[in-house]
Amino acid sequence: MGLKIDFHVHTCYSGDSSITLKEVVSFAKKRGLNGVAITDHNTLKGAQKLKTNEIIVVPGIEVSTWKKASAKFMKQAESQ
Ligand SMILES: [Zn+2]
Repeated sequence: MGLKIDFHVHTCYSGDSSITLKEVVSFAKKRGLNGVAITDHNTLKGAQKLKTNEIIVVPGIEVSTWKKASAKFMKQAESQ
């Protein structure tokens, strides 16, 4: 059985979401996810602050560029 992970989650650190880090964990568990990638806009603050053993957290970022395009960069979460 594979892992169920949402690879595109924004938090209140993103500027376009009001979801707290605690709510991210709660919603992920309710949806039966094993983990989430926190991909806030132009910041890693939320991804770095989310410390939990309840789900896998993959730090990521959605970077705004001068062409108003976005790119996502993710790195593998450190072992939890
Ligand atoms: Zn996004």
